This record gives sequence, structure tokens and C-alpha cells, in this order.
Amino acid sequence: MPALRLRDLDEQSIVDRIVRRFGSAAASGAARGARPPVRLGIGDDAALIALPPGRELAITTDTALEGVDFALDRFPAEAIGWRCLAQNLSDLAAMGASPIGFVLTAAARPQTPLKTIDGLCRGMARLARDARCPLIGGDLSATAGPLTIAIAALGELPARTAHRRAGARPGDRLWVSGRLGDSAVALDWLLDGRPRRPATMAQALRRAPPALRPALRTYLQPRPRLALGRALRGVASAVIDISDGLVVDLRRLARASGVAVEVDAAALPLGAGAAATAALTSGEEYELLFTAAAAGTAAVRRAARRAGVAVTCIGAVGRGRGVRIDGRPASDRGGFDHFGRAAAFDFAAACHYARRVEGRPR
Ligand SMILES: [Mg+2]
Repeated sequence: MPALRLRDLDEQSIVDRIVRRFGSAAASGAARGARPPVRLGIGDDAALIALPPGRELAITTDTALEGVDFALDRFPAEAIGWRCLAQNLSDLAAMGASPIGFVLTAAARPQTPLKTIDGLCRGMARLARDARCPLIGGDLSATAGPLTIAIAALGELPARTAHRRAGARPGDRLWVSGRLGDSAVALDWLLDGRPRRPATMAQALRRAPPALRPALRTYLQPRPRLALGRALRGVASAVIDISDGLVVDLRRLARASGVAVEVDAAALPLGAGAAATAALTSGEEYELLFTAAAAGTAAVRRAARRAGVAVTCIGAVGRGRGVRIDGRPASDRGGFDHFGRAAAFDFAAACHYARRVEGRPR
């Protein structure tokens, strides 16, 4: 029997199938089953959120495009779904917010295999459950273009406690969570020229050399640092998540705060097999980069322990502007910029290159 494609079903059947994947939290058309502050989940014309007094709403959005942010012949569909939601949750984590729910907008070609959409939703639903962030609405559209997945995530937090990028002061220490460089190691392998078409995460991991599996797992299923973001409220002076590379996001933090930041390259916490240059430039790490007063060091360590996440002091904040690494100005190159000349990593170009390589006789 030929594999089912989206065009073999009508729109409502596809939507029902997606909603089922997200389980009862998403399927609660009535308030029944919905978790406060969601008063009404998916199934009506709009979801309803009831924030108690003294709480603020945090909203963020991110779009992932086939050929730019992911390639269907290299990534398991599960990982694509997981990562799309993770990107949004990482932004909520950077603000110190707790997830409320998310809306999903997708556009796909009619010939897209149903199992691609199923896999995508399976991965996304797993992270949604782990992070207690139900699907509360969405929209599905057909397109002749690339598979497009847009998510908007909602979070909440006590009023006037959100982290900002502007807040770092000269004398503060500079910190980062987790390990850096894993995404560069994983992408090197994923884009090395051979399409692997892994059907599941487990299959992708099995096919990778054992030494690469930890980096691949971190890259394909990043864990947004929600608990750390919350624990750092009242402790950190400025926070940003590393979505486009350490240097790029350091520069954003430094510019927003009107300060200079100084990184000690030897202090960077490297993932297994990652070089310091990868740690400085590889994007999509979804770790938190933050500053805190030197007197707050013990509080930072307590917050990290409470969140169960390793944190490392990688430098300090000074007067002036810009980013310095071991005393020298960081180069403009490196990190990901969708439009910039300085984009060192260009996914579309990498995939294009890989396709050219595959076309050659071996
Ligand atoms: Mg961000």
C-alpha cells in the first residue's frame, strides 16, 4: 500500500489527527482538562487565558523553514517538531517565564507524507508534555513552497520580574548554562553530504558514531532552561538565550546593556569533541547566557543547583562596548544571521552543497 500523503485526507481529518497527538490537554475544547491559567484550550475560535492579578504575560514566536532551518532528509521529523517548540520555550526561559501554552501554524505541500507530520507532532508533543505547555490553538494551510512551522508560545510570571537583556553592569560576572559547541559537532555530522532519512530519533542516534551521540541528542532534542530561567529571577542582572551563537548573543546583551563584555576562552564549558571556536560561534545552543553581580555568585550557584543545571562563569562585564575574547575584540564573523554578510553557518548553502556532493559519482 502506498504511503499516505496529506492530499489523501481532508483538512479536518488532518487537524483532528494533529490534535489527538497532543493528547487530552490540547483536546480540551471545554475548560475541562485545561490547566490554569488556560480557561479554554483548542477547539473554539480562540483560546482563553485568565491571568491572576499581579502576573504578566510573556509572548514569543519563531518560524522554522525547510531548507533554511531544517532538512527533511537529514533530521528525524520528531526532532524537527521538538526543536521548533524548544526554540520558543528557550525564549520564555530567557525571560524567566513559565509556559502557559502555544499555538502552532503550519503550511505543507499536499504531497507531504502523513508520517512526516505525525513524526513532527510526536516530537513536539513530547516536549510539550515535559514542559507542561499544551497546544491551545493553531492553523493549517497548504503551500507549494517549503514546509513551514510557526509557533507562538505564551508564558507567565510575576509582574515586573522578567529578565531583560539590558541590565548588565560593569563589575558583574558573565555566566553560561550547560555545555557549548554540541550543535556544531552534531551539524557537521548531519550535513556531511549523505542524506540519512532517519525515521525516528532512536534511529538517528543508532546511526551516529557512539562518540557523537551526546552532541546529537543535545542538538536534536535541546532542553530549554525553563527551571534555571525562573530560579534566576531576582539573581541575574541580564539574561539572553544563545540561539544564534555565543558571540552574536553576547554582542546583543552588551549593546542592550551599554557595556563591554570580556570572555575568558579557557573557561568556556565545551561539549565532548567541540572546539572553542565552535563554542563561540555555533548557534541553536538554547543555553542561557546571563550576568549577575559578583556578590551574587553564591545565589547563582544555589539557583543552578535548584534547577539541576550546570553553570560556568566565563568572564566579566566592563565599561565600554563590544565583546572581547582573551583581551582581543571578537571578530564580526561567526554565529547565525539570516540576512547578514557575516553568517558563517548558512544552512541553505550547506544543504545545497551537500546535494551537489551527493550528485557526484563516488
Ligand atoms: Mg532568544
